[in-house]
Amino acid sequence: METPTPEELNKLLRDLSGPVIAVTRRYSAQILGQLPTSSAEVVQALSAAVALDSDPEVRTAAILALQSPIHQEFIKEHPDLMQQAIESAVRGKRQDQQEIELKITTEFQHILSREKRAYLLFFLSILAFFGGFILLLALGMDFKTMDVVLRVVQVGVLASAVFFAWRNWRKYRCPNCDGWLGGFKAGINVLWASPPLKCPYCGTRLM
Ligand SMILES: [Zn+2]
Repeated sequence: METPTPEELNKLLRDLSGPVIAVTRRYSAQILGQLPTSSAEVVQALSAAVALDSDPEVRTAAILALQSPIHQEFIKEHPDLMQQAIESAVRGKRQDQQEIELKITTEFQHILSREKRAYLLFFLSILAFFGGFILLLALGMDFKTMDVVLRVVQVGVLASAVFFAWRNWRKYRCPNCDGWLGGFKAGINVLWASPPLKCPYCGTRLM
């Protein structure tokens, strides 16, 4: 095989670790195994693929690629290279996962406090309804006027209850899989939710 241009080599390296289909990653590994010269970059990329790729065929292709005499010679000259590459790849992946986890738990906290505010609004409106009723009685308002006032308040309570239910139904969802967390199936009560808590659908840690 001819020596690829730097651009071609970069594309192969990018494809090997990139978000492309497994066939493309495997093909990149195979081509990298046929290179006429070796380099730290190529050995590191192939080592990372062996350690981290989710597809067994890609991992096998990367193992075979590393067994090419050209790469074997390079590895012999740089004995620590493979281990360092695998360690840094694993570290990078763990860091990515931690960042994703933090994003999800932060987002869930945000959703939870929004839901709590909606609950509070609902309870306050009921309180206002009964409180207002008692207050009007105490002020000695006649029943005819009170009837009109109460109807207006009732509509207000009903509207906020409907708004609350709609909000709860629409937005109380897992930040990862978008599964609905309200209702009996998920059973994650907004007021009593406490850690450790996992999404009942995708298993992601929520808090
Ligand atoms: Zn989920």
